[in-house]
Amino acid sequence: MKLILLGPPGGGKGTQSKFLMEEFSIPQISTGDMLRKNVSEKTELGLKAKEFMDQGELVDDFLILKMIEKRLNDNDCKNGYILDGFPRTIKQAEGLNELLNKINQKLDHVIVIDVDDESLVQRMSGRRMHPGSGRVYHVEFNPPKVEGKDNITGEKLIIREDDKEETVRNRLVIYHEQTQPLVQYYNEYVFKVDGTKPIQTVKNNILNFLK
Ligand code: ADP
Ligand code: AMP
Repeated sequence: MKLILLGPPGGGKGTQSKFLMEEFSIPQISTGDMLRKNVSEKTELGLKAKEFMDQGELVDDFLILKMIEKRLNDNDCKNGYILDGFPRTIKQAEGLNELLNKINQKLDHVIVIDVDDESLVQRMSGRRMHPGSGRVYHVEFNPPKVEGKDNITGEKLIIREDDKEETVRNRLVIYHEQTQPLVQYYNEYVFKVDGTKPIQTVKNNILNFLK
């Protein structure tokens, strides 16, 4: 199963990816998580990406495509994967096409998660994250069992640097300008789901479609 999860920042891509990973035993490939790891490890890529991420801007297409090409060649991607937060521009989608042709693979579906901007601002202001795994919580909509702690490891949850309201607004503008056109681009592959519904409902709607 080779999937793209497409949708606005805060739409629930990471949340739903975790369910899909378990259901289909395939890895989640989140370019956001990969970049944050590079930032925290202060790699060359991380140093380049950080200023863009902190402003809510997109990181250079070429750097992202290089990172994805390397990742898709890993052994655990042979049976499929969930692309979360990639592609984000038409250029990235074209690059992905070329890459898939080269490795003789085909996408199965593009799941589009639809959520209105005001709900997204509310979601990102309450988002808490476990940096080691990328697991996400929400103070109101999906609270951890113990406040501020990851359910599995008990480690501390963090607030993402780019979840400040001002940065969130910029990310939404960029989403509408640069990423939303991909819904049309992938038209024949698209399954749309109402992402304003509760987490379990969104999960069931996606799984019902895929099974
Ligand atoms: P994305 O990966 O698309 O940026 P996340 O999965 O991190 O989005 O979700 C953003 C925030 O919204 C998180 O705090 C998450 O717990 C919460 N969330 C995700 N899906 C829903 C939903 N259907 N209803 C309410 N809150 C949600
Ligand atoms: P995310 O975790 O998907 O919300 O991504 C966080 C930030 O990482 C984004 O605001 C961008 O700065 C950067 N980023 C993640 N994925 C991409 C991508 N595919 N293309 C460009 N920038 C990205």
